[in-house]
Amino acid sequence: MTRATLAEVLAPALRDGHAVAGLVCQGWEDARAYVAAAEAEAAPVILQVGPGARAHMPLTVWAAMLAELAGAASVPVVLHLDHGTSAEDCRAAIDLGFTSVMFDGSALPLEDNIAQTRQVAAMARDAGVSCEGEIGIVGYAGGARTEGTDPDEAARFAAETSIDAMAVSVGNVHLQQTRQARIDHDRLSAIAERTGVPLVIHGGSGLSHDMRRTLARTSPVCKFNIGTELRICFGRALRDTLTDDPALFDRIAILSATEPVLTDTARRIIAGLRHPT
Ligand SMILES: [Zn+2]
Repeated sequence: MTRATLAEVLAPALRDGHAVAGLVCQGWEDARAYVAAAEAEAAPVILQVGPGARAHMPLTVWAAMLAELAGAASVPVVLHLDHGTSAEDCRAAIDLGFTSVMFDGSALPLEDNIAQTRQVAAMARDAGVSCEGEIGIVGYAGGARTEGTDPDEAARFAAETSIDAMAVSVGNVHLQQTRQARIDHDRLSAIAERTGVPLVIHGGSGLSHDMRRTLARTSPVCKFNIGTELRICFGRALRDTLTDDPALFDRIAILSATEPVLTDTARRIIAGLRHPT
């Protein structure tokens, strides 16, 4: 069993100037590819189940599937609930064996975000599970607004909630299909000066490998959430597979053909978060 908590994989990353990939899972084939990639890189990995994946498939199925992958893996695997929006969401994940939950209260007024995140973090801690919170608002490309994290609020949030990791808004945006993020280094430095908690960048697809590695080395950012980059990779691999063999109809054959491509892409992502030692 190599199931690990978020805190367990982020502590050495923070110490050594690396980051750990939080890879967004949508099914069996991609999740399996991500674990294969982590094993090939001898690095830990965070398998994330977000709202879209949960709407598509019950959390009970996700929990069993990821537990199976983690149990057979030779590297630490974190089973992470991404963007839980209620204590009940997080409770359900903890009861099913997830080792990390994100409570996203970023849209709430500050006092409510602190109060509710503190409650979820305590519940997680009692179960031996990690908790990630979010302060400031990480918006969506072409969608919901962004609000940069206020460094003083971030310090209060981290201290009063006792979270294991803190997602911040410093120019990162969800769902970017190109490397267009403009990181606000002054804001990030101000946050880092005021708190020692590991920081998380959602919308990691908007940053190049070099940008991610530099942030990992020079700041407390030690988790990057990456989804869009991998979903683009999957879509391309699937289209190529079907174009190359128009007679192909078997679901297992079609989806399995995407795995080597996803594994390669995930390997590059994971390797890109670690500087050469
Ligand atoms: Zn996110």
